Amino acid sequence: MKAEIISVGTEILLGEILDTNSRYLAARLPPLGIDLYYISKVGDNLNRLAGTIGRAHERSDLVLITGGLGPTEDDLTREAIALALDEEMFVDADTEQRLRAFFAARGFPFPERNVKQAMLIPSAQAIPNPRGTAPGWWVEKDGRIIVAMPGPPAELERMWEVEVAPRLAGLTTGDVIVSRTLKTVGIGEGQLDEMVSPLLKSENPTVGVYAKQDGVHLRLTAKAATREAAQGVIGPVEEELRRIAGDAVWGADDDTLEGAIGAMLKERNLTLATMESCTGGLLASTITDVPGSSIYFKGGYVAYTAEMKMGLGVSAELIEMHGTVSDEVAADMARAARANAGADLGVAVTGVAGPDELEGKPPGRVHIAVDGGGPAQSVSYTYYQGRAATKRRAVTTALALLRRALLARG
Ligand code: AMP
Ligand code: MG
Repeated sequence: MKAEIISVGTEILLGEILDTNSRYLAARLPPLGIDLYYISKVGDNLNRLAGTIGRAHERSDLVLITGGLGPTEDDLTREAIALALDEEMFVDADTEQRLRAFFAARGFPFPERNVKQAMLIPSAQAIPNPRGTAPGWWVEKDGRIIVAMPGPPAELERMWEVEVAPRLAGLTTGDVIVSRTLKTVGIGEGQLDEMVSPLLKSENPTVGVYAKQDGVHLRLTAKAATREAAQGVIGPVEEELRRIAGDAVWGADDDTLEGAIGAMLKERNLTLATMESCTGGLLASTITDVPGSSIYFKGGYVAYTAEMKMGLGVSAELIEMHGTVSDEVAADMARAARANAGADLGVAVTGVAGPDELEGKPPGRVHIAVDGGGPAQSVSYTYYQGRAATKRRAVTTALALLRRALLARG
């Protein structure tokens, strides 16, 4: 099955929003055995949109459209499909009823403009959207399919997962492509590539090494008649990669480093506290992205000034002697976080987020420490790609150091 994706919205062409919906959909087609040939981005213009949809419908078995289903005048995806297929729109009474009930349940008056979200054409069926007002369209015409889904990612993703993907899975016949990603920290990209090099020649599955923000990923990709067969092809090679990379592997696929650490803390019955200077709370925020983190995360301090650090019990003498941006102060911050919170482990970050230097230290210099009862372990590095990137990287490094401390504790 040949497919293409059309992302609709002038915001995309102006660079105001990133077209993440295309990426979301593109990543989900190979496992269904659907070949993606084109991705287009079109503004909110009826003729250009209808032209793009018409061409797509002529050359592709499946056209996936996202965006332009809102109630406003510039949301034109329905009108454009109708124009491209030369069909008349009509108001679907069921859908209108549902929309009116949706507004009534929230105590809002029904804006008459929203009636257009209840429109259909003879070839279209409405696709339910419990996360918003705009239903999708499932259109079948001339043996081909057009699916229109809402732009807001939360609505699109639910509609895809619950409504669209299962229907498409029943229609496709091609080989499926299944990928598995092993995620590592602690071994550099080049070194890991060298370690797994005999496997890089494998053709099914293929193996790739990729440096990412949360470490180095090993990706295995297999092609086979069914999902199960593809997984069978991946299994033994995955095992071999895990053997080679050892405990550098912290997770797979959608796992996050903060989630992996949360699981380790829970398993060991340990608690954690943080003290952050340069990351300004991003570390605590990342740790609490994991549902249920309150079981092991006691809390965190954002101590930006030296006074604030000292107020929390960080040694004035160490600050005086080494400056706040130092291994020594990072270690003492981790100790103070742990002691104040009564946690088993403390993690601290201090550094220069940039763009200017501080205390004679360059932007991007970061000191991170973990205190777990024994002597504190600290690391420091200097790496500058801007303020936001420094903060993100410091968080990843802090989580990686914490993981190492947990592994060392056993
Ligand atoms: P629309 O339905 O086209 O008016 O889009 C409504 C909102 O959904 C936009 O303002 C964006 O926030 C989001 N959105 C629309 N299209 C996309 C896309 N391709 N990728 C990510 N977000 C999108
Ligand atoms: Mg719009």
